[in-house]
Amino acid sequence: MSVSHIEHIGIAVNSLEEAIPYYEKVLGLKCYAIEEVADQKVKTAFFKVGDTKIELLESTDPEGPIGKFIEKKGQGIHHLAFAVDNVNESLKEAEANGVRLIDQTSRKGAEGLNIGFLHPKSTLGVLTEFCSEK
Ligand code: ZN
Repeated sequence: MSVSHIEHIGIAVNSLEEAIPYYEKVLGLKCYAIEEVADQKVKTAFFKVGDTKIELLESTDPEGPIGKFIEKKGQGIHHLAFAVDNVNESLKEAEANGVRLIDQTSRKGAEGLNIGFLHPKSTLGVLTEFCSEK
């Protein structure tokens, strides 16, 4: 496994409209992209903090993963995404180490990245994502 850095931190919010001003006005970050990921039933907003991004996630469907997360736990940190060379190889490696996968193979996430999730029951409670450009 070669993790180069934390690619992004995913944060579930009730509303991008309400959350973006906090990140811009209070923290002085700049929202550089807003993108809907229909597959995951979310609208995302991105900020850069050094090499790491903040990914705000607003649910577009109460039955979607973020809708359910917020209903159960409220707003807050949803997942941690590590940048790796190759998502598929990293998923296989994690599985070989006994980790339960949510995604058996990579799929397309926001910003055209390949992504894949590990199950939080296997990762000490942290929903973990791998991201790679290839
Ligand atoms: Zn993510």
